Amino acid sequence: MQATACDQGFQAPAARLTGAGIVGLQEWADGDRVERLEQMRSGELGSVHSWELVTAVDGPGTRMTVFVAGCPLRCLYCHNPDTMEMRRGLPVTATELLARLRRYRGVFRATGGGLTLSGGEVLMQPAFAAKMLRGAKELGIHTALDTSGFLGIHATEEMLADTDLVLLDVKSGDEETYRRVTGRSLQPTIDFGDRLAAAGIEVWIRFVLVPGLTDDPANVARVADIASRWPNVSRVEVLPFHQMGADKWASLGLDYELDGVRPPSPDEVDAARAVFRARGLTTY
Ligand code: SF4
Repeated sequence: MQATACDQGFQAPAARLTGAGIVGLQEWADGDRVERLEQMRSGELGSVHSWELVTAVDGPGTRMTVFVAGCPLRCLYCHNPDTMEMRRGLPVTATELLARLRRYRGVFRATGGGLTLSGGEVLMQPAFAAKMLRGAKELGIHTALDTSGFLGIHATEEMLADTDLVLLDVKSGDEETYRRVTGRSLQPTIDFGDRLAAAGIEVWIRFVLVPGLTDDPANVARVADIASRWPNVSRVEVLPFHQMGADKWASLGLDYELDGVRPPSPDEVDAARAVFRARGLTTY
């Protein structure tokens, strides 16, 4: 089964070439619970849902995308609800992942690709993320963080110095809709975006267009206003909602509230993209 997580799950699923849990990686099996916690705190050990090699999604070029487990949000449209709980991930060391990353150095160089850390929410495991980012930079590899920004406060200055690109999911423009979509508040995402802007880190914004949930014109306009306040946004992706993640909710015994919600029509997606383009934003 192909892994898709977070908002990029709405993007060109056919472009996801590999991805089946942590296949090819060694699961960490040493030590007891105390040691495991220590290793996690140090950043050497992460709780990983899956990884895959993708082209033309999750950032430029061909990328190794690592999906970590655990997320503070509860997006109604989540494509991978099994990434919401950190305990569902498997323990994998940064050393193991970086060894795998090193193997693809030639591919990354040839395609302008690199490493993308996604989830779940990668900032749930900031020490692990920091170690991965540092390791990638030491290998001369481009780095991207895919995040909702809700836990932006967990990102240290050192981490941001090792981050070339942030894929920032802005799930809604008004507070009420944001809360309805995610169960949480929008402001931390805006604060994180402000910080990225101040640091001059390149950002791609992602917004999932869901009929009857996020597609109110006033809401779309607010997302566009948020994106246009940041000069470091080089691209916006308006991603049409689809139902391809629905089955997972049932298999986990979770209530899926978007049953029967249709994907937006091509015209509706174009209209939303036009709202961003009208603000001078390069939008796909
Ligand atoms: S932020 Fe969390 S809950 Fe929302 S889509 Fe991404 S993984 Fe799912």
